[in-house]
Amino acid sequence: PQRVFSGMQPTSDSLQLGNYLGALTQWVALQEGNEAIYCVVDLHALTVAPDPSVLRERTRRTAAQYLAAGVDPARSLLFVQSHVAEHAELAWLLSCLTGYGEAARMTQFKDKSAKQGAEGTTVGLFTYPVLMAADILLYDTHSVPVGEDQRQHLELTRDLAQRLNARFGKDTVVVPEPHIVKATAKIYDLQDPTAKMSKSAASPNGLIELLDNPKTIAKRIRSAVTDTGREIRFDPEAKPGISNLLTIYSALTGRTVPELEADYAGKGYGDLKVDLADVVVDWVTPFQARVHEYLDDPAHLDDVLAKGAERAREIASVTLDRVYERTGLLARR
Ligand code: ATP
Ligand code: MG
Repeated sequence: PQRVFSGMQPTSDSLQLGNYLGALTQWVALQEGNEAIYCVVDLHALTVAPDPSVLRERTRRTAAQYLAAGVDPARSLLFVQSHVAEHAELAWLLSCLTGYGEAARMTQFKDKSAKQGAEGTTVGLFTYPVLMAADILLYDTHSVPVGEDQRQHLELTRDLAQRLNARFGKDTVVVPEPHIVKATAKIYDLQDPTAKMSKSAASPNGLIELLDNPKTIAKRIRSAVTDTGREIRFDPEAKPGISNLLTIYSALTGRTVPELEADYAGKGYGDLKVDLADVVVDWVTPFQARVHEYLDDPAHLDDVLAKGAERAREIASVTLDRVYERTGLLARR
């Protein structure tokens, strides 16, 4: 079987719909026939300097959302990054193989550091993609289901893997492939359909937050920015707002975009938005109930995470020992 690995940051009380459509649905599908490992990457979330109790709460909430979406701990490993020390250890080693200029070219760093300003930007934000490479390489990962925004980080991960193999022997680590499903690889902000929807967006008005009040969700969809003209047609260049709504509609209902275009021929943007709000609310309501069941039993949730970490450590320690040995670090006894 192929090894699959991915993670999300606990940077918000709720995941947003792009996380679900771009990544989480693929995670669930890839459990079938693969060895899947899914992680709440809490060390990454330290780059936004969260309040300690908030971070703890968000970590559990993120795990509960994985489970509610269909990540099945009987089939997949589910754990919290900081519970497996090898992530931070391999990250250091990889940071010594990463060029400063190479890291400085990462567009996510450029975007996020521009928002945080020079004073607010940490070294951790800069080395974030190196920690992400460590997350992936530790598990001899073949395939990494992520959204389009992570393509560049995956490319860096592959470069680092190839560099390790060139320097220290060809089987030092597995070179992973991104698994990016085009139709839903980039869900856009409802208020700015040229920007990616993001959990930690400056304004929440363009987000569909999975754990938000359904009334708020419906209102945000009805207030989505649309385009000039009145025809409901999938055309990301000319009609980014409507195209984004059609993408979401199609992904949640399984109806194709051409079918939806035919259905809405002659109807207005308002009709589409009202119907989409219903679709999202109908989906999110049972999802929220499942999340709350997991959150109401934190002992069980922590137990699932502890068992996952135990098994993850077994895999990660073998990889780290191999890489340490090959790079010339004196074997520990
Ligand atoms: P943050 O603003 O804190 O970076 P985020 O919404 O970008 O939050 P991440 O935890 O960084 O979420 O990413 C989790 C996963 O969701 C990644 O695989 C990422 O590619 C995917 N993803 C994030 N936003 C979108 C989106 N708008 N469309 C599709 N996939 C997305
Ligand atoms: Mg992100």
